[in-house]
Amino acid sequence: MGDAGGSHVPAGAAGAPDTRRPREPGDAPASAGPPGRGDAPASAGVLIVGAGPAGLAMAACLKRAGVPYVLLERGERVGWAWHHHYERLRLHTVKEHSALPFLPFPEETPRYPSRRQVVDYLERYAHELDLRPRLGEDVTRLARRDGRWTAETAAGHRYVADAVVVASGYNRSPHAPIWPGMERFHGRLLHSAAYGTGAEFRGQRVLVVGIGNTGAEIALDLAEQGARPSIAVRGGVNIVPRDVRGRPAQVTNIRLLWLPARLRDAVGRLMSRLTFGDLSRYGLRPLPYGPVTQIERYGRLPVIDVGTVERVKRGEIEILPGPERFTETGVVFTDGVERAFDAVVLATGYRPALADFLEDAAAVVDPRGYPPGDGAAALPGLFFLGFARPKAGILRQIGLEAPRVAEQVAEYVRRTAGRGTPRRSGFPGAGA
Ligand SMILES: Cc1cc2nc3c(=O)[nH]c(=O)nc-3n(C[C@H](O)[C@H](O)[C@H](O)COP(=O)(O)OP(=O)(O)OC[C@H]3O[C@@H](n4cnc5c(N)ncnc54)[C@H](O)[C@@H]3O)c2cc1C
Repeated sequence: MGDAGGSHVPAGAAGAPDTRRPREPGDAPASAGPPGRGDAPASAGVLIVGAGPAGLAMAACLKRAGVPYVLLERGERVGWAWHHHYERLRLHTVKEHSALPFLPFPEETPRYPSRRQVVDYLERYAHELDLRPRLGEDVTRLARRDGRWTAETAAGHRYVADAVVVASGYNRSPHAPIWPGMERFHGRLLHSAAYGTGAEFRGQRVLVVGIGNTGAEIALDLAEQGARPSIAVRGGVNIVPRDVRGRPAQVTNIRLLWLPARLRDAVGRLMSRLTFGDLSRYGLRPLPYGPVTQIERYGRLPVIDVGTVERVKRGEIEILPGPERFTETGVVFTDGVERAFDAVVLATGYRPALADFLEDAAAVVDPRGYPPGDGAAALPGLFFLGFARPKAGILRQIGLEAPRVAEQVAEYVRRTAGRGTPRRSGFPGAGA
């Protein structure tokens, strides 16, 4: 970490600056290792928890602004979640509106990058912008003591900072409801977080529970790979096409952001109707509100279709009601019908699970467990990135908000530490 922001690494700490090359403002500690057990804690201007897209974007913005930070990632690589998502996954947002600040996706990457291309992009981002994450550092406790923030990691290291940015992701922890009889089910039962490819299920009857984007795409993958998928759908669902006549719906949505939600809802519904027709007869009833209201009021994305609807219409993916209970061989649904399955994939979402490591989480999260989405300091020196309700894609939102939140963080560090002045001009795009 550099001196620009007034950071201090105690002499002898393993995180002391590498003196072999000139230090740059915003440098994380140059030595590879974190402070050793028993060493004095490493002291930073800002701690960033998580090196997914949000944590990386935050590090890049702080570095540009000359604010010293330490970036902690529990995984062995940056973008850890993207290393583990299912193989078929592609972004459903276009690369132009999915890149992080200061580095576009490569020219040769297709409009909708694959999971592997996202992984490569995130790794190149960390490398080219010299962000120096500390990998394998799982923050198990984050607490405010005597006006500063302390992070303890599973490896036994301790970090102290003036401010902290939690970028641990809204999908940090798989969420799986419990249905009666689940423990008796003899088939394979897994959360979508553990799903890799439909090739493992060829010829099998697979129930996918939940029709969010993940459930819809896993069912499609299963159908493409020769399994026999069904989707359990409890209530209504808004489905929008990813492209309309070759034009990305995300781009159209961005162009229309100036319109009131009510009108954008109407456009979304019209696009769905024109593309898919009436899906009620297949068991896919629309929600009583439109796709924009769904995001802005309830914080849930509509399904962005990449081919599932076509397979439903062809009868290759069956739509069933919500599960009521499990049996040894299958599931009984809310309409009383029982069906046998070889496997059940719970595409039932994720939770940020901040209480796992953040002391006082209860004071900052809403009843569903989500922190303030606007990144503002929830407790003195505590900021969030990556939790906002996105208007047109979460990655786009992260890219827009990172410079803005970084500016607030820099201002906080400057005010509280009173040592060194971050360069305010270093926030291209701030306020966008
Ligand atoms: C299947 C799927 C597909 C998606 N597709 C798109 C898309 O097409 N377009 C789009 O805009 N958005 C998409 N999203 C949404 C969103 O953009 C991604 O989830 C994105 O990765 C969010 O970035 P993040 O950094 O906030 O969270 P994450 O990518 O989850 O990164 C958080 C990081 O924090 C680390 N971490 C967590 N807890 C700790 C801890 N205690 N200590 C240290 N490290 C920790 C994790 O290991 C992880 O690396 C998708 C999400 C999913 C799940």
